[in-house]
Amino acid sequence: MNRIAVFPGSFDPFTLGHESIVLRAMGLFDKIIIGIGDNNSKTAFFTGQQRLDMIRGVFAGNEKVEVQCYSDLTIDFCRRVGAHFMLRGLRTSSDFEYEKAIAQVNQVMLPEVESVFMLTLPEHTSINSSVVREVLRFGGDVSKFVPSNIRIRDYLHPQVP
Ligand code: ADP
Repeated sequence: MNRIAVFPGSFDPFTLGHESIVLRAMGLFDKIIIGIGDNNSKTAFFTGQQRLDMIRGVFAGNEKVEVQCYSDLTIDFCRRVGAHFMLRGLRTSSDFEYEKAIAQVNQVMLPEVESVFMLTLPEHTSINSSVVREVLRFGGDVSKFVPSNIRIRDYLHPQVP
């Protein structure tokens, strides 16, 4: 069986924490599909296309990793791409409580997809996309928090210096 996992998230933007989860999970699966939830009702900092380009750049040449956008339910995306695993990262106990509720609801809706959780590395515990966005809004340098080959300034909205 082809072990396909979906790693769903907003990835707004993709951080070192996200990259590390994908790299460490690589040995567990034949393919990891990073699914960018592009939900129109939520105002994103980066567009779906920008996030797609950024993440594809990070994994360019890595045949095990695919990147796609989706705008429906995550379980419907999993069904569509034939994934039997959903990969999520855990940083804190509040992540755990939140993820547990989602995973248990998903389990009822689509039992053939198993949620798999990976603990973040200690050095990535406090990296999260919303803090990175906050730093970007004030023109700060986020290079220590995102993969080195993401040139984030190339994607910034014109109003951000
Ligand atoms: P969502 O909006 O679905 O929470 P995110 O882009 O914030 O999307 O996160 C996607 C996944 O990556 C989630 O499972 C989240 O817990 C995990 N994640 C986010 N930041 C980190 C990090 N620093 N280390 C490990 N996992 C992380």
